[in-house]
Amino acid sequence: MNDKEALKARVCAEIDRRSDEIVAISDHVMRNPETGYREVKTAAFVADHFARLGLPYRDKLALTGVKARMAGTAPGPTVALMGELDSLVSVNHPYADPVTGAAHCCGHNAMIGSMLGAAFGLRPVMEQLAGDVVLFAVPAEEGIELEYRMELRERGEIEFIQGKPELIRLGEFDDVDIAMITHTTDDAQPWLANPGSSTIGALKKLVVFRGRAAHAGGWPWEGVNALKAATLAMTGMDFQRETFRDDDNVRIHWNLTKGGEAVSAVPDDVRLDVMVRANRVEAMLDASAKVDRALRAGALALGAEVDITTMSGVLPMQIDSNLRELVRRNQEAFLGADRVGPPGHSTAGTDVGDLGHIMPVCQPLATGVTSAPHTEFYHVTDHVKAAVNPAKFMAMTVVDLLYDRAAEARRVIAEAAPSKITKDEYLAIRRAQDTHEVFDGGLRG
Ligand SMILES: [Zn+2]
Ligand SMILES: [Zn+2]
Repeated sequence: MNDKEALKARVCAEIDRRSDEIVAISDHVMRNPETGYREVKTAAFVADHFARLGLPYRDKLALTGVKARMAGTAPGPTVALMGELDSLVSVNHPYADPVTGAAHCCGHNAMIGSMLGAAFGLRPVMEQLAGDVVLFAVPAEEGIELEYRMELRERGEIEFIQGKPELIRLGEFDDVDIAMITHTTDDAQPWLANPGSSTIGALKKLVVFRGRAAHAGGWPWEGVNALKAATLAMTGMDFQRETFRDDDNVRIHWNLTKGGEAVSAVPDDVRLDVMVRANRVEAMLDASAKVDRALRAGALALGAEVDITTMSGVLPMQIDSNLRELVRRNQEAFLGADRVGPPGHSTAGTDVGDLGHIMPVCQPLATGVTSAPHTEFYHVTDHVKAAVNPAKFMAMTVVDLLYDRAAEARRVIAEAAPSKITKDEYLAIRRAQDTHEVFDGGLRG
């Protein structure tokens, strides 16, 4: 065993020694879920662990983010290990908060466990590494509770509705060169871990159709039916589907969040939440423009008005191939080659994709959960698989990157550089997606 492999073995032994603590962290967060930009207790819990490790940290970053740094012996690149703080909402989930309905049905609790677990393993060996490790608990990955986040935006507390874009804007990734985070995935596959899948991008729209109320039996001709305008728009959105290229994985989905008030009145205020997803930013913008056209068409046909607020959500994610290979080798080293799955492509999205536009990123996957992410049926059942194993393969990958004067980290950064954009270029892409349009199809004369 060479020195680097011996160091990895030492890191893994330390993680094994503290395995019960890591399990307890993941379990505690699972039982105390909080949704995005509200993760106050979870952030304090993480900060307490940083303090116990003797690590200086900064908190309240993008409202609830907490960031600590462990320095190596010599200057060099900085690798961030991240964990998402936020939960979803699922009132029937077995670990749902009885008051708020918040529930960890995306397994983010395990990410806090794996991030802190990797810190436990790396803390005693930092003097043998060059460069730094940033430990970063990040807020608001899930794109939910849009109206709350819009309020935060209007109050000037955030610009972006999701955590990593906001942290990028605030400069909290300016001192990071490489980022890694392990997500859970469902247990339907035979493998225990996977070095990571690319994911697709998404943007969101809050849509309000305004019409004119009237007695639906007595004088319907006096009204302008906003529900019928919305119905036509929904059909128009569906009719776009065959205009999308198969390999762009375009997805358009929506909820009718308000369909009217009294059934005996012509509906004059009808609302939709719309989500547009695609593999490429250009395909996402193309689909978004077609959705807007369909929305206007509905308003125009009925003589209604449509108000469209578009919010950038997440950008498509490309996993760094060098990082992925390092992760895969480390997964195989202690799980066995037959228990490591192939990289794939997911038509879900994450704001890790945003970070991937400006630096090399990797989001490996781990099992240890029940099936059907984002539903009441999904929660971590095996915290060793979901949190302890990822703590090991992420920490081992950090050793690969920062050992030998961080030669491997420097190679990863240099080889990724041609495909990366600057922070300002990234912010320009995001901001171009944040638009507001009011289209009058005849309501105002
Ligand atoms: Zn999720
Ligand atoms: Zn998630």
